[in-house]
Amino acid sequence: MVSHNKAQQADLRRLCAALGEIVNVSSFVETTYNLFESFDKPEHATNIDHCEECRDHNDEVNGVNRRDLSPEQIGTVCWGISSFLTPQATGYYIPRLIELAVTGQDDKDGDPYMCLFINQIGLNSESEQFSLLTNEQRLAVCNSLGILKNSYIQLLIEHCWEDEIDNAITQWTT
Ligand SMILES: [Zn+2]
Repeated sequence: MVSHNKAQQADLRRLCAALGEIVNVSSFVETTYNLFESFDKPEHATNIDHCEECRDHNDEVNGVNRRDLSPEQIGTVCWGISSFLTPQATGYYIPRLIELAVTGQDDKDGDPYMCLFINQIGLNSESEQFSLLTNEQRLAVCNSLGILKNSYIQLLIEHCWEDEIDNAITQWTT
């Protein structure tokens, strides 16, 4: 029988935790898609009668299926669709936004999409956009922010988002 000393045990625990995180991110994404299946794809992603910008953002989304929504379509902090989505469209598309954030994808400009996610979703938990989310669905958003903090803290520090990730987690837990 192999016996490990304390240092080896600590190393093994760290290794297991690291492997667990890798496995958990992809299963977390699939669980999240399932959790938001209560939202059907809406006819329009934004309130097209509101203004020209809303109509433009709806055209940008172009009725795409949620898994096919691309970083190109989502845009950037300066010009992007996510804060224009209706409550129904938010529920339908948010698993894709969570997926792009927790898997560390880049936005249209090549910056980490998670910064945009923290800004427009993380720091707006009280927005009308999220009014249709159940407690369980809100918890999934909160968990996605926790994954960002656990897995990408170095990247967040580099982009000066380390305070905002804490603020976002606080918003979605309270
Ligand atoms: Zn508008």
